[in-house]
Amino acid sequence: MMTVEIRILGTRGNVESTAPKHRLHSGMLVDERLLFDLGEERFLDPGPEHVFITHLHSDHAFFMERGSWDEWLKDSSAVFYAPEKDDRFPLMKVLAGSQSFGPYKVSPILAVHSNKVLSYSYLIEKGGRSVLYTGDLIEIRDTDNLPSHLDIVVTDGSFIRRGGMVRRDPVSGEPYGHAGIPDLVDVFKKHSGCILFTHYGEWFYRDVAKANERIRSYSGEALVRPAYDGMVAVI
Ligand SMILES: [Zn+2]
Ligand SMILES: [Zn+2]
Repeated sequence: MMTVEIRILGTRGNVESTAPKHRLHSGMLVDERLLFDLGEERFLDPGPEHVFITHLHSDHAFFMERGSWDEWLKDSSAVFYAPEKDDRFPLMKVLAGSQSFGPYKVSPILAVHSNKVLSYSYLIEKGGRSVLYTGDLIEIRDTDNLPSHLDIVVTDGSFIRRGGMVRRDPVSGEPYGHAGIPDLVDVFKKHSGCILFTHYGEWFYRDVAKANERIRSYSGEALVRPAYDGMVAVI
């Protein structure tokens, strides 16, 4: 069976705090070819062929803060995909359904996270291997479309408390925010034996050693592990 190498480029959420190994915003590189989230401009340095953005918040798409599609894009030969169009970035495409990219099949799965921007999780499949990368997340409503077995799930470590931080849009009543780590473990242990947390909130930076320990303590039916900037896993 073919293997897939995933490299977690950044593990810092949308917070001011930093720590060694937890400095950079979101990004995950697959086999040095596909990049998921572009929290830092330097993530383009390895020359990914395709870039898939979970949602247009700046800790997942650094260029949102610049407000225009400028010089940095001209140096990259990558094709960019996001859940929705943005007039300021006309070259960004929308991945409307499953699509093949060489040996990979990438499927967007609608995720609940923000009341302002659309969010996707991405299912990446290659030669019998499967990876789910969620970005920020309250829930995936469409769990029927998830395979019963995923080799690994990479997901949102914004909050350690059960319930995370979920608010309701006053107009639509729709929830937005983040689930907590225990909630996400409960959901994803049904789909995978291995859950990797990234995108840490302030809670993590108060005591990094203890935070790592707390994440590991959720291991049970699934192995639960904390990621760090530069972590490589071959599955
Ligand atoms: Zn985020
Ligand atoms: Zn977000």
